[in-house]
Order: sequence, then structure tokens, then C-alpha cells
Amino acid sequence: MSVKVAKFGGSSVADATQVKKVAAILASDDTRRYMVASAPGKRSTDDVKVTDLLYKLYEQRKGDYTDTLTAIRQRYVDLAGDLGVGPAALDWDKEFDAIEEHLVSGGKRPYVASRGEYLQCKLIAAYLGWTFIDAADVIRFSKSGELLAAQTDEALAKALAGVERAVIPGFYGATSDGTIRTFSRGGSDVTGALVARVVAAEVYENWTDVSGILMADPRIVDQPRSIGRLSYTALRELTYLGASVLHEDAITPVRERGIPINIRNTNAPEDPGTWVQTEMAAVSTKDPAIMGLAGKQGYTTITLRKPQWSGMPGVSGTLFNILGDANLVLDLALTSIDGWTVAVSTEAFAPVRHSVMGQIKTALEPATIEIENGLSLLGVVSSGSLPETVLTGRVSTALCEVGIDILSIFRWGDLHLITINTTQYETAVRALYQALVD
Ligand code: ASP
Repeated sequence: MSVKVAKFGGSSVADATQVKKVAAILASDDTRRYMVASAPGKRSTDDVKVTDLLYKLYEQRKGDYTDTLTAIRQRYVDLAGDLGVGPAALDWDKEFDAIEEHLVSGGKRPYVASRGEYLQCKLIAAYLGWTFIDAADVIRFSKSGELLAAQTDEALAKALAGVERAVIPGFYGATSDGTIRTFSRGGSDVTGALVARVVAAEVYENWTDVSGILMADPRIVDQPRSIGRLSYTALRELTYLGASVLHEDAITPVRERGIPINIRNTNAPEDPGTWVQTEMAAVSTKDPAIMGLAGKQGYTTITLRKPQWSGMPGVSGTLFNILGDANLVLDLALTSIDGWTVAVSTEAFAPVRHSVMGQIKTALEPATIEIENGLSLLGVVSSGSLPETVLTGRVSTALCEVGIDILSIFRWGDLHLITINTTQYETAVRALYQALVD
């Protein structure tokens, strides 16, 4: 029998109205048998996510934390009241006493943060009448905080066997001795993907508050279109470059089994959303030339030059080792005759600049060094509806027409990666959207 796994983000479960929408979505399709949820998100723009309140609570643990604890408790009590879940199903005194006890007796930060999802899913399970499965029993972490994929698969498969419908909290799991660990922020997406993988879901539905992945940042482009379909690779590229929809680690577990991801809107469940899958439907020449645009700001480039360098083997190895040892990730590396340019995050580079540059000078003795700040990387993911060579021409023309200084541009499969000055970033995004989507 086919199974769907549905993951609901914080805004989809922020209050009783939202949780009722979730219940209606689940009720409308019998094959949605397993659901994963986040902690309650913001109810309005000036509201605070429960996870952020929990991190605050942890910071206050040695001082006066009462107001924060009361505020968190109130959110759940109100939610339970509005949903008609009474004390027989959930004893809030007991739950919050346990949290407070842990907090004052040295409970760790991940444990405190995880209580948002834990309580939320207990409450939702009681409301729906579904089985609650604690993520601490099924999502396995190593002592150093890495996900243990094989052990997680095994524990999840065992726990879900014979369970008709279950609610599983996102974001956390535990080590073999029961110590709670969390994924990084937004990690409930990863939990959803792990559940989808283990039950070989027909689809992993990721319910959020937008109707799929937008083709560009809505703060820059007015009402951008959403992407209908894209490949896992294109999604990973857009996510890495800053399109914030899905946690980047949520892609691999489902991709390995070829399970499609469908990103949907809880507030507009009739919208088809975005489909992410291996096999792409044939693209038509009527489709926009690109899938989407995303970019990251805050880059620094280091350019080194030395006559005759190009003939000397080993320069790149030395350079990469120095940067790697300083924990710098290279998002771009270009070489030319007698020169190297690498781009690194300005924030990551600042604290290690002195030592890195010292080592470069000693080991490589470059003739000149240029360091440039204020750069951005802009990624354009092709839809395949135009030959890539034509797309390269269109991208360059669109940017040239609005006076963008292209510092570098190269194509990596279906991705064009362009380095520009951050001051020109928004102009560049608008120009490309207009030329390639509109
Ligand atoms: N509640 C966690 C966060 O705010 C995890 C999640 O929502 O996926 O990051």
C-alpha cells in the first residue's frame, strides 16, 4: 500500500487554526500515514518561535528564567485548550516540571531545544488520535553528534512496523545512552526525509507557508513565480546558494531512494507546489529559460600572482592545504597564467586572515597579493529549455545591459555561477529574472 510522509513546518502548526488545517490535509488523503512536525513557529511577524524561546530559556538557566518558561508553557496550554485536548491526554505540570528539573540540574542545550518538537508532537498526536513516537527512540546520533543513518533506519523501521498512523517530532534524536542531540536549525526537514526513506514513501510532502520554491528572492523580485519541477541537484544548488526552503541535509536521504519531494503550502493546499525528483519531465521551449536564481553575499577574494607560477606543480596543493587547515571552505577557485583567485566567506576569513596570509607568504612567496571584500556569488540554474551556450549569452547580455561588472562567470553543468559586487546584487537578480523568466 502506498504511503506518504507529511512534514509540517513551524508556521503550519503555530496555532490551533493552523493545526486544524493540518488535520484537514491529513484527513483528505488516507495514505498520509506518518507525519513529522516542527515546534510552533511565529503566529505573526513580531512573534517568537518556541525554539528561540527554548534557547533563551537555556541561556537564562542560571538566573531568572521564570517568565520565559511561563511564556513557553502558555503557548502549549493555549494551543491544547483551543484544540480541546484536556489534561487527561497531556499533563502540562508533569511535562514542564521535568523540563525545569533538567534545566536546573545541568540539562544540555540540545535537550532544552528539543522540547519544542517533543511537546508539540505529543499534543498533535493526542488531538489526531495517532500514535506518538519519540524521536529520541528512533533517530540515532553518535556521541560526537553525527547522524547514524543505518542505526536510525533500523530503529525507525522497527518502531513503525504495524503502526497505522504516527506522529514523530522533528529536529532531534539521541545517542545510544539517551543523550538528546539536535540537527542544525530547520532540521525537522531532515527527520521527515529519514522517515520517508525508511517507509519507502511514494512522496515526501514538505508543508510550509509558500506554494513551493520561488524562482527568486521575493524581497528582491516582486511576486516571483514558483518552480513547478526541478531535479535534486538543482534544488541542492539553489539551497546551498541561499534559497531558503528546505534544510540541505534533507535531500540526500530521499534522493538515495528516488523518493520525490513535494513542497506544499498549508494555507493553500490546492496549489500543486514544487516537485523535486530524479527524472525530469521533458522541458518545453515555452518553459522559462531558468529554474531559479539564488545567491550568497559576503565573499572575499584572495588573488595571488607570481611570474612563472603556471609551470610549477604543487602550488594549488599548498594553497588549498593552508586554507583547509584554517577551516575555510572554498566556494570558488580560479586559476590562470601565473595566478590564483579563491573566494571565501568574509566572516570566516576575518579571524584567520593574519595567520593564513602569513603562511601563504612564507610557503608560496607570491609577487603580489590582492584581497577584495564586498563580493557576491550569484547562481542561475538552467531549466534546460535553451541550449546552455545560448543561456550563457542571455545571462551575460542581461547583466551587461544594466551595467553589472562580471568579475567571473563559469558554467558547471546546469549552473552558471557569477561573481559580482554586492552593491550590484539586487540589480543583477532583477535583470536576470526579467530577461529569463518574465
Ligand atoms: N524548531 C527547529 C528550528 O526552529 C527545527 C525546525 O523547525 O525544523 O530550527
